[in-house]
Amino acid sequence: STQILLASRPTGWPTEQNFQFRTSELPELAPGQVRVRNEFISVDPYMRGRMNDTRSYVAPYQIGEQITGGAVGRVTESMSDTLPVGTLVTHQHGWSDTVQDTAERFTAVPEIPGVPSSLRLHMMGMTGLTAWVGLTVIAGMKEGDTVFISGAAGAVGTAAGQIARLLGAKRVIGSAGSAEKVALLTEKYGYDAAFNYKDGDVAGQLASLAPEGIDVFFDNVGGEHLEAALENFNDGGRAALCGAISSYNTTEAAPGPRNMANLITRGLKLQGFTLANYLQHSGEFAERMGQWFTDGQIAYDETIVDGIENTVHAFIAMMQGENTGKMLVRI
Ligand code: NDP
Repeated sequence: STQILLASRPTGWPTEQNFQFRTSELPELAPGQVRVRNEFISVDPYMRGRMNDTRSYVAPYQIGEQITGGAVGRVTESMSDTLPVGTLVTHQHGWSDTVQDTAERFTAVPEIPGVPSSLRLHMMGMTGLTAWVGLTVIAGMKEGDTVFISGAAGAVGTAAGQIARLLGAKRVIGSAGSAEKVALLTEKYGYDAAFNYKDGDVAGQLASLAPEGIDVFFDNVGGEHLEAALENFNDGGRAALCGAISSYNTTEAAPGPRNMANLITRGLKLQGFTLANYLQHSGEFAERMGQWFTDGQIAYDETIVDGIENTVHAFIAMMQGENTGKMLVRI
């Protein structure tokens, strides 16, 4: 089995030198244990936060410790009645090719014809649920709302745009970091309008695409995007603050929005959230997303990097915007 460990804490952008590979022989299975060969492992922005030794909502990775996180694989050996050989499972063991543990540490997932296992790591898994919770529970999105989504062409963003549309948004506007992504948002993901934030003047671009203002903001990016949303909010606007990726790899704190007083004058509500506190919504989400998917109403993209040895590259490339939809490593 090959695992990837944190070798040192990155300052700013991570490099390959911050990680270390370990190959070990797995022991014989103990009673109640299973061995799982991963099919896909996930690289996620929140992992960058865990590489810092600072207080956050999940404990930091320790030096010499494996990078844990979401993965999907299949049971290849089993000493457990609950997970026979061949069962598809998701788990949180993270960056490794083969894992072995007690059956309770894995979750069996139903195999649905036409649903690739990789979707359990995004549209029908963590990032899809994040989009659902952010829009419905946190921002209280209603039919007729104009919704703005930053980081719109990524894993959470592509889910959020489609969910907003399916829940009856009047207008869905997205921002992303390339002309190709912007085109995809309107052509494939049902956005009414989209813009490239790298062209600058985020507030101005948003204003021209949302002449009647925005009611809901789903923020994956923070910084200038948040300031732009505050500038364009209608009275009573609501923001689900999901992520702030524009500052994950910077070494200096970004200035705060200069227009915070709009919260007062327009009666705005900004609420941050982390998915771990809202897992009780996974049942309703699975039902809705499963139905939409079966009805052919959900599109998705994956950017797949092959081989465990390219995991660190995939992780860094994801934060640099090389992915469209979900970035995955195929084992
Ligand atoms: P993505 O698939 O969206 O990948 C990250 C994307 O961020 C890149 O593709 C890139 O797209 C964009 N990006 C990178 N740097 C910048 C920048 N400076 N300004 C604007 N965009 C940038 O990742 P996820 O969908 O997994 O995650 C999206 C966000 O959601 C993250 O902020 C993450 O932390 C957050 N999140 C929060 C959760 C929660 O519980 N609150 C749960 C899951 C995710 P581009 O080419 O457009 O720049």
